[in-house]
Amino acid sequence: MKNKQLSLNQAGDNTRLAHLGHDPMSFHGFVNPPVVHGSTVLFPDCKTMETRGQKYTYGTRGTPTTDALCEALNALEGAAGTILVPSGLAAITVPFLAYLSAGDHALIVDSVYSPCRHFCDTMLTRLGVEVEYYDPSLGASIETLIRPNTRLVHTEAPGSNTMEMQDIRAIAEAAHRHDCVVTMDNTWATPLFFRPLDFGVDVSIHATTKYPSGHSDIIMGSVSANAKHWPKLHEAQITLGTCGAPDDSYQILRGLRTMGVRLAHHQKSALEIARWLEGREEVARVLHPALESFPGHAIWKRDFKGASGVFSFVLKAQSEAHFKAKAHAFLDALFFFGLGYSWGGYESLAVHVNLNDRTICKAPTEGPVIRLQIGLEDVADLKKDLEIGFAAARAV
Ligand SMILES: *Cc1c(COP(=O)(O)O)cnc(C)c1O
Repeated sequence: MKNKQLSLNQAGDNTRLAHLGHDPMSFHGFVNPPVVHGSTVLFPDCKTMETRGQKYTYGTRGTPTTDALCEALNALEGAAGTILVPSGLAAITVPFLAYLSAGDHALIVDSVYSPCRHFCDTMLTRLGVEVEYYDPSLGASIETLIRPNTRLVHTEAPGSNTMEMQDIRAIAEAAHRHDCVVTMDNTWATPLFFRPLDFGVDVSIHATTKYPSGHSDIIMGSVSANAKHWPKLHEAQITLGTCGAPDDSYQILRGLRTMGVRLAHHQKSALEIARWLEGREEVARVLHPALESFPGHAIWKRDFKGASGVFSFVLKAQSEAHFKAKAHAFLDALFFFGLGYSWGGYESLAVHVNLNDRTICKAPTEGPVIRLQIGLEDVADLKKDLEIGFAAARAV
């Protein structure tokens, strides 16, 4: 019998990531959990079937593989329960469907992940929910926007592409005075750098597609709720039939094991490149919460334990007529930075950000916004690549 004096709950992040979610002795000592492929689960007799008197009953309701991942995420988030869904976008839409009904009013941060806005403006609106976008800089004063029928306040910090920070604790306190559920898209920070439930958020949302996967090869989402809001979330997943697949769940748990060391590298490289960009004459502004120059820096410093590898910068341009040509020249010249959506993988990416759907946090006027995901490559190579991009942009 091995000693049981040390507790995983008191251990450091990397120790927890290495051991959470699966007890090897529960499956013949194998270090990793089995990948259980299954729809049908057999019952020994009718009475057990009738009373659902066993742990597993059907593939959509969980398997030992999905449970291993959910238990790891519960521990990381400090949550009562976690559901797995087929994408990060579904990790937003499923809780919205769980908590909102026709006639309700929902407050959504204006710097939200853009496909979330599309869902709100189309399907959610069609279902009779009134959606209102709010300024991410609102803290406690969000209370002035809360109506008798406001049921949900959605947050995301930093905001997608433009990185606005939010005073999450103040927003959650104001929302709770009116019995609203507070959701947060925490994809950028991961639970290693921010734990939403510790700041009063009820439901923490992740595109596990990003850092937990880490290799640009899995699409999956997770939603973790506190005890008060877990039953409705769980019920919605069962009702909608959106469940996590076994192979994907296995791969996300596999990714979590190394997420701490990967994030440390992403953080260091991204900050080094962000500071270097701040000193370049081609750059109007760098949008990175860990930079002292960034407007939301004080909130980031107070509430967050780290910064991941995604940030943006504004490329200087003479006039708006040049924005697109400058951005395209810069991006097309890059070699190591791939041109593609998503982030969180081992490889660097760059995109020209479209902010046309914003209603409050409008696009910067100095030039196009370029979002970078700094991967695990060597910083010196990435800087050389960016320099070639700047030379191409200057020629426009
Ligand atoms: C990528 C992303 C999502 C959606 O994840 P998918 O798995 O690509 O659907 C949701 N929120 C944020 C903040 C994201 O960056």
